Amino acid sequence: MQTNLTDAFLRTPGGQEADSILRSCVHCGFCTATCPTYLLLGDELDGPRGRIYLMKQVLEGGTATRATQLHLDRCLSCRACESACPSGVNYARLLDTGREAVERQVTRPLGTRALRALLRAGLTGRLFAPLYRLGQVCRAILPRQLREKLLARKSHGPWPAQPHARKVLFPRGCVQPAMAPSIDVAAARVLDRLGIEVVRSAGSAGCCGAIRQHLGDPDGALGEARRNIDAWWPAIESGAEAIVSTASGCGVTIKDYGHLLRNDGDYAARAARVSALTRDLSEIIAPGSAALAAQLALDPGERVAVQAPCTHQHGQRLPGALEGLLRAVGATVVPVDEAHLCCGSAGTYSILQSDLSSQLRERKLGHLEANRPDSILSANIGCIAHLSAGTATKVEHWVEWIEVRLR
Ligand code: SF4
Ligand code: SF4
Repeated sequence: MQTNLTDAFLRTPGGQEADSILRSCVHCGFCTATCPTYLLLGDELDGPRGRIYLMKQVLEGGTATRATQLHLDRCLSCRACESACPSGVNYARLLDTGREAVERQVTRPLGTRALRALLRAGLTGRLFAPLYRLGQVCRAILPRQLREKLLARKSHGPWPAQPHARKVLFPRGCVQPAMAPSIDVAAARVLDRLGIEVVRSAGSAGCCGAIRQHLGDPDGALGEARRNIDAWWPAIESGAEAIVSTASGCGVTIKDYGHLLRNDGDYAARAARVSALTRDLSEIIAPGSAALAAQLALDPGERVAVQAPCTHQHGQRLPGALEGLLRAVGATVVPVDEAHLCCGSAGTYSILQSDLSSQLRERKLGHLEANRPDSILSANIGCIAHLSAGTATKVEHWVEWIEVRLR
């Protein structure tokens, strides 16, 4: 694609990157059919190729409108278009740049700005955990819209006490420890069986930055990345072999720290090291799947359906990895149509674009439940909460499913 970005913008590192991404797009449209919002709305401007044109116009000095902003807001950042693209267009990085440029030109209505600010501060702040717990306790008296966003409280086993020579670091995170603390405990107990000890990150660590990045606060996201790197560094220097995320939405962001902080003289080298060390939980457990299979007591009649989050299959480029791991430990995994399509959760998308989000959930659950699984297994807390609200079938993290079946 020919480009004509403004000289001032081209002199910035972000401008050069955007130019190179735009030039790699050959207009072929292979991405269009894989885009969930294009499938629902049928409008070229609600598909990747149309959004790329819109961003190109703005980055070339054109005027952004509320309509431009809406088409970009409707994008789930699911990156299914990247998986389909034969030219390797890095759509997600262009989207970050394009959204920032549009945000500078188009002021959102006051109510929307307030909601986005509330989500940025509320989901990543210290008050989220006590408020979420209060909501779980008062669940019965809450309105349905709030009640369906709350996961039921689960009991879990103790954190393993056995030290091992192999050590990995778990990031602290923000919403997952409050919504489902059982996930990290289950992961630590499974890793313990494989001879891997989990080190928990220091108290100053927190959100990976994804929430602020997707809600128009890139500087806030960089601040969170720097704070995490500072908090994790002692464990890395002490020999942690990997930073392991049990939420694929966080993992994909941490794997990008090296890029996000590439121009920060104080953090670039450490950010690159953090990204190189980051692994999804499935990547750490997969090599031990035969050893794990020998320690599981499975019911041969039990069937599971896998919802591979977009941040796992597209963002971290791990297509089929969850299904493969579960089959390797002996699970019966049922086939699922349209496995590449987003479930509609997408961080805060389910709140900010609730109609599209609900339509995508219905479509996804139809496919997940078509072969009557006993449970639906996912790798991301946002998807688990979103899908749980739409079905009576049990939805849980795959590592919890494995952990309760350990002998
Ligand atoms: S990221 Fe997802 S929703 Fe956005 S354009 Fe690509 S395929 Fe469509
Ligand atoms: S598939 Fe890739 S090259 Fe083709 S239009 Fe989409 S983004 Fe551009």
